[in-house]
Amino acid sequence: MKSVLWIQTGACSGETMALLCAENPSIEQLIRDGSIDMLWHPSLSGPGADLAALIAAIEAGEQSLDILCVEGSIVTGPHGTGMFDSFRKRPKMDIVRALADKAGVVVAMGTCAAFGGIPASGNNPTDSLGLQFDRERQGGLLPFEWRSRAGLPVINVAGCPAHPDTIVRTLALLARDLPLELDGLNRPAEFFSALVHQGCTRNEYHEYDMEDVTLGGRGCMYFNLGCQGPSTQAVCNTTLWNGRSSKTRAGVPCFGCTAPNFPAETDLFKTEKIVDVPVKMPLGVARAQYMAYKNLAKAAAPERVRLRKMEP
Ligand code: SF4
Repeated sequence: MKSVLWIQTGACSGETMALLCAENPSIEQLIRDGSIDMLWHPSLSGPGADLAALIAAIEAGEQSLDILCVEGSIVTGPHGTGMFDSFRKRPKMDIVRALADKAGVVVAMGTCAAFGGIPASGNNPTDSLGLQFDRERQGGLLPFEWRSRAGLPVINVAGCPAHPDTIVRTLALLARDLPLELDGLNRPAEFFSALVHQGCTRNEYHEYDMEDVTLGGRGCMYFNLGCQGPSTQAVCNTTLWNGRSSKTRAGVPCFGCTAPNFPAETDLFKTEKIVDVPVKMPLGVARAQYMAYKNLAKAAAPERVRLRKMEP
């Protein structure tokens, strides 16, 4: 059984909501089957739980900590003090640093904890950053070379929020000491190797270049409506949300929320283009070939695609 402490820093509770929605397995299952001992979680711990005492015991070496989960960006403002986000007058960034040094494994739950996320975008008034990344730059609260007791970097379960099943399955693998391969951004490769584009029900519209110009249609949202599915690694269309849907199925473009530069500082509902060509090509695709193929494909589109007869 692995001891787990889940702490929130500059968070909106999105990862907690995702955690509580997980079904495959659910967090209750992991607790009930004895995989994890949840020492503390802001939404699961009862009124008797004493976070301050727990933190003190872990720091003193009286309580072991196998898995530290951090939800939210690390707030370092104002002026590097971290006092915009404190617990009992102590900056949470210092608490996280101290707990990370005691933990067997540290997991950044969500894009904020992994890369800084929304608070770190734009002019970043709270001086927020991620645990081991600052947006796409290596090094955040912890230096990039930092390793946990188990010899691992911070494991980045990215997403805004991360997919519920990705959160709980990562915990389940760690609880059972099963191997967890990481990708170049220290995300569990198992959940971040497929593209959102793969499994999207609008794929055939994409192939034949049948693109929507307004939201709410049946076509592809890549060319005009900002969809980043072809360059975003996540399970959203292969493991559906709540077992039934995804953003693209519901007619909302993928915003690329598992990437370190999320949110992009452009209109999320509009594709950035140079003349008529999207600036960002699908992952691994060359611009010239893509455009040539698209023009041919559009001319060959079958009637069911041209007339938008397919249900998304
Ligand atoms: S809507 Fe997005 S994810 Fe779906 S096919 Fe088009 S580009 Fe791909």
